[in-house]
Amino acid sequence: MPLNALFAANPKRWPEYEPELNRAFAEAGLDVYLSQDIAPEQVDYIVYAPGSSVQDFTPFSRLKAVLNLAAGVETITGNQTLKVPFARLVDTGLTQGMVEWVTGHTLRHHLGMDAQIINPTQAWAPAYPPLSRDRAVTVLGLGTLGLACAEALAALGFNVAGWSRSPKQHDKITCYSGDEGLKQALAHGQICVLLLPSTPGTANTLNAETLALMPRGSFVINPGRGPLIDDTALLAALESGHIAHATLDVFRQEPLPQDSPYWAHPNVTVTPHLASETRADTSSEVVAENIRRCEAGEPLLHLVDRKAGY
Ligand code: NDP
Repeated sequence: MPLNALFAANPKRWPEYEPELNRAFAEAGLDVYLSQDIAPEQVDYIVYAPGSSVQDFTPFSRLKAVLNLAAGVETITGNQTLKVPFARLVDTGLTQGMVEWVTGHTLRHHLGMDAQIINPTQAWAPAYPPLSRDRAVTVLGLGTLGLACAEALAALGFNVAGWSRSPKQHDKITCYSGDEGLKQALAHGQICVLLLPSTPGTANTLNAETLALMPRGSFVINPGRGPLIDDTALLAALESGHIAHATLDVFRQEPLPQDSPYWAHPNVTVTPHLASETRADTSSEVVAENIRRCEAGEPLLHLVDRKAGY
């Protein structure tokens, strides 16, 4: 008897995922029937994504695990009908994409590239940037993505500090944690990257008080989640010049409404939640590995701590 896996992620991505998931199942030695349409009481595993049409898990009486195709889980952690293990996505493709996006936007601000790219007066006015070793960068969140970005920036020579919930140690990154640690982390960096999950504990991490702790003329780069930032406070800090520029990939409301002041702000770059995308080939292998583990009675990878919210 094959295992039944329901693909309940975005149907638009089915053509891309069907072959990759079936390949990964075969490579893992699993006999899995994968479909977008299986009677709930016959489903063993759900391949999931935020925004899925499946919101009530009650009819899935023999469900063993839900395997998410995204790293962010804030829309699902509170779902009381979900009673089986729930794994989020950690995938090499997703991580590499985020490292590239964060590194690119950090280098843009570090090198002052806009002055050459947008130079309407054709001014010949060289402004030499400091070397990376003289530029301090802070990464809020030292999980899978934050740590990978912090390590990539440190490898480029930046003076990197990071902040997380639990204390950490790293030979190339100055690590802070807790409320006091946040103050030190924010005072450290002229470029601040947010890679925290959206939870009650991280809401408005950047607010009027914490933005004021950052050095004057700092840059904010947010590929984490919209609620991490108090928008009113950020706009005020941009107006005053305390924050020189904000590059924002994620927002409280997406798509970002047309009347959002962010769109027209000269010191804001809006990107449409594209910092990193789940890759079908690598993420399918993670899903297959978790099904293999579950069938073998081994602990699943990347389980979400529903209480912590990430
Ligand atoms: P992880 O769960 O691996 O890491 C989260 C990090 O945040 C951990 O270091 C954790 O601390 C820290 N953290 C959580 N709560 C707090 C808190 N209250 N105070 C201080 N630190 C805290 O997540 P990922 O790195 O995989 O992903 C991070 C986020 O990136 C996702 O939640 C998602 O929102 C976003 N994302 C955005 C994408 C995009 O395209 N824009 C794509 C993919 C993800 P600790 O280490 O102590 O647990």
